[in-house]
This record gives sequence, structure tokens and C-alpha cells, in this order.
Amino acid sequence: MCECIDEYKTKLSEYLSSHGVELVGGISLDTVFPTRNWKLIGERTVVKIQYIEKRTSKNGKVREIKRKTKVINDYCPFCGEKYK
Ligand SMILES: [Zn+2]
Repeated sequence: MCECIDEYKTKLSEYLSSHGVELVGGISLDTVFPTRNWKLIGERTVVKIQYIEKRTSKNGKVREIKRKTKVINDYCPFCGEKYK
């Protein structure tokens, strides 16, 4: 599996530091640690998805509900390698 996530965190930290940005803690990317058969299969990037659902209740009231979800990438967005 590629090391892009860690490499990008390091590169971004170095880049920001070299431009006079003082970081508190590290850089964070949107990632998750999914499992397969209860075993951790490594860090993966995700794409956040947001939408607004129009919901009509039985009494006719219409509400808008903000929904958020995420899709776990099967491929690395940086180098294109398939996550294992
Ligand atoms: Zn990669």
C-alpha cells in the first residue's frame, strides 16, 4: 500500500513551516480506518457528501433535513494505487 497520506501530511507541514506558519499539532486529512472481518485494513481517504432531504410528515408539515455521509475511497486520490 502507498504511503501518500503520511507523505502529504509531512510535505504540507514542511511547506507551511517554510512559509512561516507555526502549526499547533499536525495536519489532518479526511481519512478513516475501515475494518474487514474485524481487522484494520489501513488508513483511507474519504469524500464527504452533503445533501438536504425534503421530508413531509403525516400531518403535511414539510421539513428540510441536512444529511452528511462519506464515501471511503477504493483508490488513493494522490497516486491512483488501489487500497488493499
Ligand atoms: Zn497513494
